Amino acid sequence: MEFKEFKLNKDILKALEDIGFEKATAIQEETLSNLLDQKTDLVGLAQTGTGKTAAFGLPMLHNIEYNNHVQGLVLCPTRELCLQITKDIKSFSKYLEVNTTAVYGGADIKNQIKDIKRGVSIIVATPGRLIDLIKRKVVKLQEIKIVVLDEADEMLNMGFKEDIDFILQETNEHKNTWLFSATMPKDVARIASNYMQDPHEISIGHKNQSNENIEHHFYAIRERDRYEATKRIIDYNPSIYGLIFCRTRIDTAEVAEKLSREGYKAEPLHGDLSQAQRTRVMTRFRNKEVQLVVATDVAARGLDVADLTHVIHHKLPEDIENYTHRSGRTGRAGKKGISVSFLTKKELYRINQLEKVLKTSFVKKDVPEANNIVEKQVHQYIDKINSLEVNDKDIEKLLESVLNKFENDSKEEVIKKFISLQFQNFVSYYKNSSDLNKSFENSPSDRKSRRDRDRGRDRDRGRDRGRDRDRDRGPRNDDPNAKRFHISLGRNDNMNPGALIRIICDSTRIKSSEIGKIQIGNRDSYFDTNKENGSAIISALDGKDYEGQTMNIKMSKSSGDSSSRRGASGGGSRNDSYGGNKRNQRDRSNRGFSNNKRRRN
Ligand code: AMP
Repeated sequence: MEFKEFKLNKDILKALEDIGFEKATAIQEETLSNLLDQKTDLVGLAQTGTGKTAAFGLPMLHNIEYNNHVQGLVLCPTRELCLQITKDIKSFSKYLEVNTTAVYGGADIKNQIKDIKRGVSIIVATPGRLIDLIKRKVVKLQEIKIVVLDEADEMLNMGFKEDIDFILQETNEHKNTWLFSATMPKDVARIASNYMQDPHEISIGHKNQSNENIEHHFYAIRERDRYEATKRIIDYNPSIYGLIFCRTRIDTAEVAEKLSREGYKAEPLHGDLSQAQRTRVMTRFRNKEVQLVVATDVAARGLDVADLTHVIHHKLPEDIENYTHRSGRTGRAGKKGISVSFLTKKELYRINQLEKVLKTSFVKKDVPEANNIVEKQVHQYIDKINSLEVNDKDIEKLLESVLNKFENDSKEEVIKKFISLQFQNFVSYYKNSSDLNKSFENSPSDRKSRRDRDRGRDRDRGRDRGRDRDRDRGPRNDDPNAKRFHISLGRNDNMNPGALIRIICDSTRIKSSEIGKIQIGNRDSYFDTNKENGSAIISALDGKDYEGQTMNIKMSKSSGDSSSRRGASGGGSRNDSYGGNKRNQRDRSNRGFSNNKRRRN
């Protein structure tokens, strides 16, 4: 239905025309049909990106009186969302005498107090800051007519349960409450039953269902290929504009740094950044100066960036609700989007879970190989050339002399030369790259078979060299610089000498020959190397994830002496993922990949 078919205030209709909104989205149709002339509570189950802001913003503006007492309150989980909603409500009400203000934490409270004291009809707030203002008696909610709880599930996830209770108790009994949530966990249902009277229920899509505009793709990979596979997806989609999600701040910073070092326009977004830094990243992202933002779940909450083509789950979140929130950043406003996940053999079972809960299917894709990627890149480049509008006058002056230089070349030869110049670094980067799909197929099928394999190996080793000498090379124990380091994973965690050397060499500049004796126990392991190397290894790997287990590494008290140990540490509380291959990456940049990428972008 078109907006003008609803009995909306004329000034609101005029503003919508200015913005270019003609037809109401499904959720807007529902709310406009039910909330314009009726005083009712409402529970709306809807994903982000469905047009929720107008769905509650328009009926709110239509129903409140335009005076300077707070009449409408919108509670939302994050500062980003708070600013976005405020901006939208202001644009819907540009022809109305309504003041709307945003209050959120992390900003100067004095300015917010000044704004409120000037008189506002609508406050859009994050819960913590609103409580502060209520306690200071700056905000009074007794005359409130409408309270909106937006992204209620997110607010509860973020620990605002008590705050929401406090705020709702400050309001009068006659108000109406409109609650919107992408999912309906128990706590959200509790708010609905405690604070609402016979709410009208609307549901866009069914419970916990994923947005239909989003395609869900997944790739089966080995853990060590996670970053490389992510890069291949990016390279295969040269116009990608997306969000990459990691589980931890450390991973987020690391992936963003690696990508930007390799010439991609990528920036991190996580809780260690100041508010000013985060705002700068988001502004650059919105202006498309940044093509990829690598974010933690918390930092990306409430983000609304139009036209994102992809959401990449560098690592899947632990819970399905977070998957929904992450994926919902793409496929907004009727546009198509792709949500990409990478899963190791151990993680593949999660696809069934996701499909069941989201009631949608996930498509298994092959990680693009070098030739697919290069072909896609070249074609995109040619299409760009074909659609280029050339300013004849500027070029004409040069053309004759340039053409003279090519007089002995055919058209094919000239094109060949241009393409190989443009893509030589790219081609040479991918020249010896492996087929990640085959690597996945050839990897051991599960933990058990790997354990069996390692047990077999250990048995052989035991026969040949004695069980306590798993590996013995590099600095010897009698080397005065050799120190013994303890790692909290052992055979039971799939740790073996080869794996240990691989993760050390992949994450540091240390060569395998610099690692001395390695001893793998059932629950923990030891290796020898000099003190400097040890510190580098600890800073690169301590607390990282190895096949789902946290590695803790420290210098052993029994330095240089393996005999005194047994029994092992458990995992620590940090849960950062190991996923890097800095050595390969340096090699790539040396080959000039990064320059090529920069040129391409
Ligand atoms: P929301 O779910 O409110 O964050 O809206 C998602 C996106 O859809 C925003 O970029 C809105 O500007 C846009 N949008 C919302 N409603 C409409 C509409 N009726 N017509 C066109 N675009 C809309």
